[in-house]
Amino acid sequence: MTDARVALNRAQVQTTLHDLTTPVDALTPPWPGDQPFRRASRWSIEAGDAVNVDTVTTTTHIGTHIDAPSHVRSGGHSIDRTPLDACIGDCLIVDVRPLVGVSTSPHGFAPLTLVRSRIAALARGVGREASSIKRVLLRHRDAPVSTWDGQTPGLDPAFVQWFGDHGGRLIGIDLLSFDPETSKMLPAHSAAIDAGVVMLEGLDLTRVPEGFGDLIALPALWIGADAAPVRAVFRREAVCSIPTPNPIIPTRRNP
Ligand SMILES: [Zn+2]
Repeated sequence: MTDARVALNRAQVQTTLHDLTTPVDALTPPWPGDQPFRRASRWSIEAGDAVNVDTVTTTTHIGTHIDAPSHVRSGGHSIDRTPLDACIGDCLIVDVRPLVGVSTSPHGFAPLTLVRSRIAALARGVGREASSIKRVLLRHRDAPVSTWDGQTPGLDPAFVQWFGDHGGRLIGIDLLSFDPETSKMLPAHSAAIDAGVVMLEGLDLTRVPEGFGDLIALPALWIGADAAPVRAVFRREAVCSIPTPNPIIPTRRNP
């Protein structure tokens, strides 16, 4: 038999799922004055009932959630009319922490020009055009939200408008609101509604690096509600080569 040297060059796609959802319990901070999360037992097996059933009382804006236009605009559509195609698909995570506080805005949001440049640079890095990005998640925080932060910077309304004008479908943030706590005009919310951009708030972006992947972030189908909780997942694929096994070395035959 002819001796053979076999080398295997193989590659496989490795998929990683990152959970971007903020865990919700009684300690999850709501907007000041809003209803915190409370869970109580209605029926209990220990108490002799056939099943365990809990009752939950909370705001529609607890933890990770999507705001519907009706949240800030009378007559705006409610959460059950959220376009689901905006909530699923190709997405870019951008770390804007170095960009927060450099603008002259009183709340220090990351300004349009810098966020736009960062998005363009990340897109260029993988041979893409910034205009092809329809979903973007902006990381502002070093740690997940654990207490109410009254200094939340919100988003630059000009950025929201620019993103929507270029076909953007969804913006997600790790802040609890698109606008700062003291804002009464809510310009970033308004810009999103005008541009048809879905508003995803309260993400935890601390465990996933910048870059592209797929977002899945669907709101509960709560008819008529102004917002609803979301389980947000980011799926990233990486091509890894499998180490080439030791080649088969021909066996020397004794004469
Ligand atoms: Zn909200």
